[in-house]
Amino acid sequence: MNVHDSDRIRRMIQDAGYAEVQRYEDADLVILNTCYVRENAVDRVKGHLGELNRLRREGRVKKVALTGCIGAAEESATLRQTYDIDLVLGTHNTYELAEFVGLPTMQETYTPELPGTEGGHNAFVTIMTGCNYQCSYCIVPTVRGRMICRPMESVLGEVENLVAGGTGYVTLLGQTVDAWRHEGKRFCDLLEAVSEKAPRVWFTTSHPSNMEDRTLRAIGEKETIVKRLHLPVQSGSDRMLRVMHRGYKAERYRRKIEVFREAAPEGTLSTDIIVGHPGETEEDHQQTLRLVADCAFDSAYIFKFSPRRGTEAATLPDSVPDAIVQRRFLEVLRQVEQNAFTRNQRKIGGVEEIYIRHGSTEDGKAIGETWSGHAVHVETNLPPGNYVKARIESAGPHVLYAGKPSG
Ligand code: SAM
Ligand code: SF4
Repeated sequence: MNVHDSDRIRRMIQDAGYAEVQRYEDADLVILNTCYVRENAVDRVKGHLGELNRLRREGRVKKVALTGCIGAAEESATLRQTYDIDLVLGTHNTYELAEFVGLPTMQETYTPELPGTEGGHNAFVTIMTGCNYQCSYCIVPTVRGRMICRPMESVLGEVENLVAGGTGYVTLLGQTVDAWRHEGKRFCDLLEAVSEKAPRVWFTTSHPSNMEDRTLRAIGEKETIVKRLHLPVQSGSDRMLRVMHRGYKAERYRRKIEVFREAAPEGTLSTDIIVGHPGETEEDHQQTLRLVADCAFDSAYIFKFSPRRGTEAATLPDSVPDAIVQRRFLEVLRQVEQNAFTRNQRKIGGVEEIYIRHGSTEDGKAIGETWSGHAVHVETNLPPGNYVKARIESAGPHVLYAGKPSG
């Protein structure tokens, strides 16, 4: 989502006549588009602001703007006092940047005909903003506000424009993308309609409470939908899921995964897991390990709990000591990697159609994606947006390796 927001910001300042540079020293204006989900993101931003202030004193950077979720949080006032920042914008007023860089005042819009983030071949399309959940640990509803769903015609119109302009891969975006609803239509209706218009479609992020079986079946049935599901579970313990206010039990999650595996047996499944949420016991952790083993995730983002001021979890007692959090983190990671490695090994020997996402680097290998959602390194110089067919020759826990394409 932040990549997408950064893309909009980049377009805006390019329209104002700016060009992108690689080093702070070469910049007239530096925009830090920020994340606030965990404390380490804030620490990193502080590091950058410190460096930028130094460069500014030396006259090597002229202006600094802070945008995104930190900009929307109260903490931005403290940062403003500590560091020299010319402009602070939150998540709902990014458009105000226009005036700052000398463009005519504009209204906030969704994605005004963006050519996509990874080049014209791949585009993110926002279908909803904000979130109506109140997970104990999460700052997102505070900084992004409540859910607003974009009308279906507006989404389809943008998809049509993008495809007409050469986009080959559309990713539907939202914090709880499957909670999308509008005038009696639900997420699955929108997904199916988009899958009729775009040659390749994916969506993220989904919430287990909103995920409908028919959406899972559509992933298996619709040829243009990448068979890859990202469904954050957070914990395998019902007790922790209740404390987190996730609104589902582990059993519902397992059932959803069964439906997905049945609908798309070759597909890939990923999740988010938080270890060390206040009150998490050894038994809770064991239940998470069991769920991870049962669901055999192909990958997972595992996060150590990070207290965010303004969330319920930041005030809860029974915090988990760092050493225990670290051990639990490694145990979950090992379990995920073991399953992923075993599953990836099964792909060896098969011939796959691979969509090139990132062009080749010096080693002559591009990064692509199979229809099952596996990441593949493949030997080709073809630019992003192309398809090749190649045989999978080896596999690690995170990626498959293909040989020279046959077509
Ligand atoms: N809306 C998505 C959902 O509900 O699954 C996820 C949005 S959140 C930006 C991405 C992930 O960050 C979450 O799934 C969660 O695992 C993690 N996360 C959020 N707040 C966190 C915190 N305070 N500490 C550690 N991880 C956190
Ligand atoms: Fe945060 Fe996702 Fe929960 Fe919303 S559903 S509060 S974005 S973790």
